[in-house]
This record gives sequence, C-alpha cells and structure tokens, in this order.
Amino acid sequence: MNKSLVTYIIISFLIIFFFGFNFLFSLLGNILILLFLTPILLIVIAFLTINSFKSKFKVCTNCGTTMISDNDSCLYCGSNFNENDNIKNYSEDAGNETIEIEAEEIN
Ligand SMILES: [Zn+2]
Repeated sequence: MNKSLVTYIIISFLIIFFFGFNFLFSLLGNILILLFLTPILLIVIAFLTINSFKSKFKVCTNCGTTMISDNDSCLYCGSNFNENDNIKNYSEDAGNETIEIEAEEIN
C-alpha cells in the first residue's frame, strides 16, 4: 500500500476527529461558492471595463472615424469635437419653436 495515501488518510481522519464533518462540509461549501462567485465577479469587472471604454469612444462628426482618446480634437482630420457640438442647426428648446402646418381638405 502506498505510504503517502496512508498518511493522507490518517491526516483526514485526524481532521474529522478534531473538527468534525461540519467543518469539512463548510470548507467544501466555501470553496464551491468561491469557484462559482469568482467567474461572476470577473464577468462584472469585464462589463464595467467595457462600459468605461465605450464612454471613451468618440465619433468624429467631420470625418466619421471612431477613436479612444481623451483629446478634444480628432486625430485624423484635426477638427475640434466641442466646436462641432456647438454648431447645431436645430434648437433644443422645443417650447419656443413653432411649426407651421398648412390645412388640407380631404375629399
Ligand atoms: Zn475627424
């Protein structure tokens, strides 16, 4: 019979004798919980990093390229993002805008 196996059995019997079965079961349960929770935690961290990356993505309104940068100007064409945001043909205040509708007769 293998000597290391005998020593392992003796050690496990001693642990059971001193701590009882509950200790072993709780230990195994904790290990299982850790094995289940660590992938979930990693997935959550990956999601958060992807979301933070997405918020850093910028689309140039002049040339249409997407890039990850904190700069205010486009890397390719050099146009300023803030200037492009300020130039808008439509107003954001809908209350002050009037829409003219011509009445039509429906036969
Ligand atoms: Zn550009």
